[in-house]
Amino acid sequence: MAGNAATGAGYDCGFLDEVVSDGRIAHERSVREEYAEDASPHPGRRPDAVVWPADTAEVAAVLAAANDRGVPVTPWSGGSGLEGNAIPVEGGIVLNTHEIDHVEVSPADMQATVGAGVVYDELNERLAREGLCFAPGISSGDVATLGGMVATNASGFNAVRYGETRDHVRRLEVVTADGRIVDCGRDVVKTSAGYSLKDLFVGSEGTLGVVTEVTVGLVGIPEHRRAALVTFPSRVAASRAVSDIVGSGLVPGALEFMDENAIRMLNRYHPGLGLEVAPTLLIELHANNDGIDADLAFAEGICADHDMLGWEAAGEGEVDDLWQARRDKYWATKSYRDEWDIALVGDVVVPISRYPDIVGAVAEASEDLDLVTSCVGHAGDGNLHFTSLVDPDDEGMVERAHELNERVVERAIALGGSATGEHGVGLGKRKFMAREHGPALDLMRTLKDAFDPDGILNPGKVLPEGRESS
Ligand SMILES: Cc1cc2nc3c(=O)[nH]c(=O)nc-3n(C[C@H](O)[C@H](O)[C@H](O)COP(=O)(O)OP(=O)(O)OC[C@H]3O[C@@H](n4cnc5c(N)ncnc54)[C@H](O)[C@@H]3O)c2cc1C
Repeated sequence: MAGNAATGAGYDCGFLDEVVSDGRIAHERSVREEYAEDASPHPGRRPDAVVWPADTAEVAAVLAAANDRGVPVTPWSGGSGLEGNAIPVEGGIVLNTHEIDHVEVSPADMQATVGAGVVYDELNERLAREGLCFAPGISSGDVATLGGMVATNASGFNAVRYGETRDHVRRLEVVTADGRIVDCGRDVVKTSAGYSLKDLFVGSEGTLGVVTEVTVGLVGIPEHRRAALVTFPSRVAASRAVSDIVGSGLVPGALEFMDENAIRMLNRYHPGLGLEVAPTLLIELHANNDGIDADLAFAEGICADHDMLGWEAAGEGEVDDLWQARRDKYWATKSYRDEWDIALVGDVVVPISRYPDIVGAVAEASEDLDLVTSCVGHAGDGNLHFTSLVDPDDEGMVERAHELNERVVERAIALGGSATGEHGVGLGKRKFMAREHGPALDLMRTLKDAFDPDGILNPGKVLPEGRESS
């Protein structure tokens, strides 16, 4: 090996000058510094070089050369990960696929074939011209790319109706650790031909291969949208309404939960928003027929059964403003209190019938640990995000925020749920993998060893140290 991760001595990446074209590599400290951190609070680490390959062939050349020399390669696209997923913790090369950004739309097949660097919102702007949409509905869509979304199996507001990224991926072009270019899957809706390798790469966070191109299925933009903001006397009442709406068979376009602290933060960040401070659901329905109003009335009936305080239908323009405000929740939280910051962003998911339990678990732990915690969640699919604001200089408070996260994750797993609904494992969730997967974790290690025998791809992520699988 040319470097030493343990001592932080760094890797000699001079060989890259022979591998990628001019202007597509940076050795300068100032550029490397920009790739030391992602959007998470996890501590950063400067890579030894950054490359922006022009195409799949250059990605393959970088990987083959790095693999020969045992130099770590951390794939990177938008850098918006919330679990340290793209932090190059062992140094080496950051391989940025951002510039692989071709888009080819096939409206007749309801699919698009796109480069890994295409940004989610930009893809949807292009697709809107055809009345189509790539549907997972991620909040960070102005930054997150298709490569990063595939790698983390991202999803968001609309997953309750349209599913997560995995549900839309038909084919992937992937470069393996040793530089082979492989196609996984076909440009079709279904196939039974052999092992589904594309499903292994989805959610693998760059630890099994580098995604260079993806074919995704599309949906038509619905003709009708209706939305309502509903307030409740308690978080439990709001979350019980969520379980009942989904359990009734109604499939909302989005079903979002926000607690009182989240509403306070949004009101502060968006003066003029003026939302009532109470546990709130934002319900959106999608349809291509007139039955949508009957469905909305049905949802209102369920909310009334849970003692809703208020039901306010939102017009088309207002809905967009509300979603924009909700998208800004992360920034609203960060700026809520001077000098304080987010300790981490919680991201658990539970069976929908257990949503009230997990909302209650956050409130209980937050009170017990004397923290200011706010919750939002793509409640319709059982996903809950919780964020404790802390004084970064108060070590005890930071530790309590991590303790809260541990308690809530343990509870989610005990309820049959998962440590992460959409942000991935990265660095922060590795310690929960044995608890969640048990002996299946050994099979994951076997896969990692088969795909990346020298361990160069995004080392230090997803799988915990050691081989225990309790
Ligand atoms: C304000 C905010 C809101 C967010 N909201 C959501 C949300 O609603 N839903 C959600 O799911 N996430 C959300 N996230 C998290 C983040 O945006 C997602 O994880 C996103 O999918 C990351 O995409 P990216 O292009 O930024 O990837 P990066 O952060 O660059 O990388 C993420 C992971 O993917 C790997 N990777 C990147 N490119 C490739 C590639 N070409 N091939 C293989 N591996 C690759 C990296 O190594 C890393 O492990 C949010 C983040 C922020 C800051």
